[in-house]
Amino acid sequence: MSQSHSIDLTANMFQARLFEWFERHGRRTLPWQQNKTPYRVWISEIMLQQTQVATVIPYYERFMARFPLVEDLAEASQDEVLHLWTGLGYYARARNLHRAAQIVVAEHGGEFPVHSLEAMMALPGVGRSTAGAIISISTGHRAVILDGNVKRVLSRLHAVEGWPGRPAVERTLWQLAEHYTPEARLSDYTQAMMDLGATLCTRGRPSCLLCPFVDVCQAHARGEEKRFPESKPPKTLPERSTQMLLLQDGKGHVLLEQRPPSGIWGGLWCFPQFDDEQALREWLDHNAPTARLEPCWNAFSHTFSHFRLNILPRPALLDTPPVTIEESGRVWYNTLAPASIGLAAPVKSLLERLTLLTTHAEENDR
Ligand code: SF4
Repeated sequence: MSQSHSIDLTANMFQARLFEWFERHGRRTLPWQQNKTPYRVWISEIMLQQTQVATVIPYYERFMARFPLVEDLAEASQDEVLHLWTGLGYYARARNLHRAAQIVVAEHGGEFPVHSLEAMMALPGVGRSTAGAIISISTGHRAVILDGNVKRVLSRLHAVEGWPGRPAVERTLWQLAEHYTPEARLSDYTQAMMDLGATLCTRGRPSCLLCPFVDVCQAHARGEEKRFPESKPPKTLPERSTQMLLLQDGKGHVLLEQRPPSGIWGGLWCFPQFDDEQALREWLDHNAPTARLEPCWNAFSHTFSHFRLNILPRPALLDTPPVTIEESGRVWYNTLAPASIGLAAPVKSLLERLTLLTTHAEENDR
């Protein structure tokens, strides 16, 4: 365990406190806690993925009544399995469950391969944590779990920074889970960790004052329980830059170009755009050599679904528009009597600002 994540509690002390809490507050009457065979625990673990306990209970009872043994499930039609799953959602779980039952019967003689974490993880729909839960709860053998509840408890207890979906963060959490998992009483330990996360260290409102770890929990000490575990960061978009030339004639006209029919702002009217200063100056030298570049306006950004465009507006003034500049696909747009043409959103707001400036200039001239 990395030193930066350590808390003032040994693994033995952690387990002792957890067991003491579990004796008094743990859940013991859930249907899958009776007769804890690998098959029964497996069905419950798959149903409980992304689904609340209260929702699962009636489904679990109907399912077990119809398919009391793994052979019953293996022999059923997929339609019947899906029918009994209807309403639980995430139907891939039911399809995987059905296939896994057939594999257990065909390849393992109807016995779950609970002696091997790898063999359990080879079953469709069974990840590392689910395999660990089935093994530890049904056999009492040592296997580690890191489901959503355990991730939440451990990331708060140790104030583990970063989104648990990141491999480095997940690795840290697995190390912590490994560190605390005892050598004995595995069934109780696994159930206790799940219960602690589900009933006390809850996502929205953790009951820290009732928690056996309140004195050592780093997130609680910082008053930042809800910051952990961190949420998935928003996708960082790639950035591009452009310079937009606001070429005006001093009489309220500004040059616009029509964008190609496809691509961003396809067919809309925009200011001439350039990748950099040099391209902009070359264009001016060629098309409007008498234009005077004015100080840049503040840059701003416009966000598309797949990138962010940083826009630097470059106002420039001409005394008279050169005749050659207006051609097909270009227009001198009158900001004081705007034509009904499609404008890209940032162009529209820049035009509004230009209109304001032109109106003020005219008022000052009077
Ligand atoms: S003190 Fe609060 S945040 Fe920390 S583990 Fe306990 S319930 Fe969770």
